[in-house]
Amino acid sequence: MELSSLLSRFSEPETLRMAKLGRELRAKGLDIIDLSLGEPDFDTPEHIKEAAKKAIDENWSHYTPVSGYLDLRQAVCSKFKRDNNLDYKPENIVVSTGAKQSLANAILSIVETGDQVIIPTPFWVTYQALVDITGAEAVLLKSSLEHGYKITPEELEAAITPRTKLFIFSSPCNPSGSVYKKDELEGLARVFEKYPHIYIISDEIYEYINYGGKPESIAQFDYLKDRTIIINGLSKGFAMTGWRLGYMAAPVEIAKACEKLQGQFTSGTSSITQRAAITALTAPLDATHEMLKEFERRRKRVMELMHGIEGFKFSEPDGAFYAFPCVDFYFGKSDGEEVIKNADDLCMYLLNKAHVSTVTGSAFGDSQCLRLSFANSMENIEKGFARITEALKKLK
Ligand code: PMP
Repeated sequence: MELSSLLSRFSEPETLRMAKLGRELRAKGLDIIDLSLGEPDFDTPEHIKEAAKKAIDENWSHYTPVSGYLDLRQAVCSKFKRDNNLDYKPENIVVSTGAKQSLANAILSIVETGDQVIIPTPFWVTYQALVDITGAEAVLLKSSLEHGYKITPEELEAAITPRTKLFIFSSPCNPSGSVYKKDELEGLARVFEKYPHIYIISDEIYEYINYGGKPESIAQFDYLKDRTIIINGLSKGFAMTGWRLGYMAAPVEIAKACEKLQGQFTSGTSSITQRAAITALTAPLDATHEMLKEFERRRKRVMELMHGIEGFKFSEPDGAFYAFPCVDFYFGKSDGEEVIKNADDLCMYLLNKAHVSTVTGSAFGDSQCLRLSFANSMENIEKGFARITEALKKLK
């Protein structure tokens, strides 16, 4: 069968592949501990579920406006005012079937063959794949553990060329957990100010999973707001990954372009989810704060456990729910059966020998690291780390 060459330009996300491998081994009866998860292990808050049930009973069952109900887009605007002190109008907002689709909409709207897109490493898997789909060139800008996995203004400026059309980053970052402070964002913003041909996608999906207090957005700098696209959604902050709702705030021309794309691709997301989202975005954030407290407790424990593992080099994540240790200490070592050449091998070694699933850093553009999620119960985290520690001790 001859399929489109488009398919050869990208592969299945490594995060989803690991989740699938874990499920397959579990189906065979193995007790696999999943530290590869990219979603909160909590239930959706009751008041949001109630709003969805009410929406079903009230027959919100028809096609919605492609970019989302007007009162939902108004609710998104009030969220931006409440949390970020940013002023947007409903025409700046496009609601989609997840932050992933919002990213796809934005990237497809902005770049094409011949353009360059700067993506700092480590980055969330899908950024590069989406850029590859458009035919544009992803320019990976390496950040390091020494600099807390953040890039400096000088590094950014050195990567810019006349072909640079777009810059994509997440803060808090999946996978490194780094969070840019206001002055660090301003440093980058001052560089972008000099290059008005560059758009910026700021992925803020982990906004509420932030251990350092108030989140900051690069869109706060007035001179960038008309070329910054903020991506966010309900998946992480409200434990609603399966409900599929993302949204963007963008300049009107980009919002219109995304609405046009979405009008042909999906017609927008579920009417029930949209009604429930109004409640999620406008009600007090108590449940989100409770979830954050639990993530904070686990983060502390995970840091203690990691300090006990020989050779792991890492910084404490300031946001999201992942640890991202550099594991190159183990490269070239063997348990007598196999030699660990890189992070991919170590990830498979831990899955097969310790029965713990993690994700290789190479999926995120950093082949020295592993991503370990703490979106799992404290009990499973303890068990998972005990198994990892034992398995690593066997590598000599
Ligand atoms: N951006 C980042 C950084 C993510 O980690 C994820 C989910 N893993 C997404 C976007 C996609 O989120 P959604 O479920 O809303 O599509």
